Amino acid sequence: MARTVVVTGASRGIGREIALSFSENKYNVVITYAGNDAAAAEAEQLCREKGAEDVVLFKGDVSDEKSCEELVQKVVEKYGRIDVLVNNAGITRDGLLMRMSPEDFDSVVSTNLKGAFLMSKLVTKPMMKQRYGRIINISSVVGVHGNAGQANYSASKAGLIGLTKSSAKELASRNITVNAVAPGMIETDMTNVLSDAQKDNINNSIPAKRMGEPGDVANAVLFLADEKSSYITGQVLGVDGGMGM
Ligand code: NAP
Repeated sequence: MARTVVVTGASRGIGREIALSFSENKYNVVITYAGNDAAAAEAEQLCREKGAEDVVLFKGDVSDEKSCEELVQKVVEKYGRIDVLVNNAGITRDGLLMRMSPEDFDSVVSTNLKGAFLMSKLVTKPMMKQRYGRIINISSVVGVHGNAGQANYSASKAGLIGLTKSSAKELASRNITVNAVAPGMIETDMTNVLSDAQKDNINNSIPAKRMGEPGDVANAVLFLADEKSSYITGQVLGVDGGMGM
């Protein structure tokens, strides 16, 4: 029987690449996204071409409890189980602390942190029942080290590390592992807003002297999701070309 993975925010960027990696491994792949229908349809098509057992698209907001409930109910009804949850959906609303609006703080924390909390909470029931599960939270190097101009984003990503460790402790005895991946600078729409000069500057500060690719993060996620990774839990795996050392 094929395993089932839910990847939030998988229409584009890192999430899409993660969905493609699970597709290559013949999973039922559930792609969630916020609003970009064209990108989601393209991701679905690519997952099918990569060999996914089945693909489902779900449009919804991870920060909305009802939407998450609907998603989890739909997946459990269709496949009877959820083996892997990847909490990847994320946004930025950058700005200096003294000018940051409470709305920009709330929207980033709601999507990046509360979304992961809601989804983790909801998948816990089917995972406990099946006595198997893998939850992987996509944090960030700035969740560990902070970054000027990203107080909201780094707070949400640091919060994800706390969520990871606490839920790992609660769920370890049920054969459910919870880990975080902390990417550095990865080439996606999120980082494409940077100018070439800004990217050069950043690349010079990375020991590997280059940005990473979405596939670099997907590899780490696939490793943590593997059945054989059952004794790894509560960890934060940096995928950052050495940036976080
Ligand atoms: P991206 O290219 O901007 O893609 C974001 C994805 O999240 C899209 O699929 C988007 O859907 C979805 N999304 C946004 N808000 C959502 C919501 N409220 N509910 C459901 N889905 C939502 O981002 P990315 O660069 O791939 O980043 C993916 C994750 O990695 C994020 O958590 C990010 O913080 C983290 N990360 C990225 C980097 C980097 O350098 N890129 C570094 C460290 C960590 P639509 O297509 O419908 O908008």
